[in-house]
Amino acid sequence: MILEDLSAVSAPLPWQAGQWQEVHNALQAGQLPHALMLSGSAGLGKDHFALALARLLLCHQSEAGTNCGSCKACELSRNQTHGDLRWLQPEGTSRVIKIDQVRSALAFCQKTASFGQRKVLVIAPADTLNTHAANALLKCLEEPAPDTHIILVCQRPHSIPATVRSRCQQLAFPLPDTTLATQWLALIIGDTQGAGASDFLELAGGRPLLAQSLYLTDAGAALKARAAVLAELISGQVSASEASAVFADASLEELTRFMIEQLERRLRQTAQQGLNSATERVTSRAMFTLLDELRRGQAAVVSGTNPSRDLYLQTTLGRWQSVLGSA
Ligand SMILES: [Zn+2]
Repeated sequence: MILEDLSAVSAPLPWQAGQWQEVHNALQAGQLPHALMLSGSAGLGKDHFALALARLLLCHQSEAGTNCGSCKACELSRNQTHGDLRWLQPEGTSRVIKIDQVRSALAFCQKTASFGQRKVLVIAPADTLNTHAANALLKCLEEPAPDTHIILVCQRPHSIPATVRSRCQQLAFPLPDTTLATQWLALIIGDTQGAGASDFLELAGGRPLLAQSLYLTDAGAALKARAAVLAELISGQVSASEASAVFADASLEELTRFMIEQLERRLRQTAQQGLNSATERVTSRAMFTLLDELRRGQAAVVSGTNPSRDLYLQTTLGRWQSVLGSA
């Protein structure tokens, strides 16, 4: 997450009201757990939520349920100079949070808060902690320093060791309500008709912040092309090897995630329409099998297993065609 140009007040996003209320109630009751794990797909604004919560925890005079935006602590957290806030994320070109970063964060957890109030450590994305780093973190989860809050942000909680996961209170972020997300996006991109916002949201698999970044970059056009070629595979207009070309610029991780999202969308549509024939039931089962295969492929690719790119593309797109082409 880019922590520059922050506004004075960090509020949760409109679709996070439920989670925010839950955390806020716990805080008011003095029962906010010292470790929270925010989980859900990328592009839903979990980092945004973590920042809003961190700044609320550090604020000296929070009102109306968010940080005040004007106290000394808010000024420091806005400028990223608050000594009691540590934000851990992959540095430079690295894709993972390194053990040295975790060690330095542990030292941070042990020291006394500068303002004598609270300290907040945010780890985002926690999925990128390797086993050594996760084990190191375990120490401060097992023996929490007083008034220290640890917020882990992750996409795949099950990729995090159970020892770490079990010591965090879970806070799930599902896909937001489509109407709410469309309204928000339309406002952000200045789309008064709402039609463009709705297109981008669909392309982003219902994830508003991803939809926003698609709108702001050229990635939207590439995704449209990918969605189109997956549809053409189903109708038999292209072969798996022809379709591979459209994914030339995509990593295997991106490709798999995109296919999972597209398949989940189809499964949701199928669920809404109901299964009316034996053939539809068979196809639906095959779609779920394919979804499992894609998720296993995703786990393998994310964990750094490097299958042959060509073979992976051919096999995955071929399966897509054979399962959905018969639907
Ligand atoms: Zn404040």
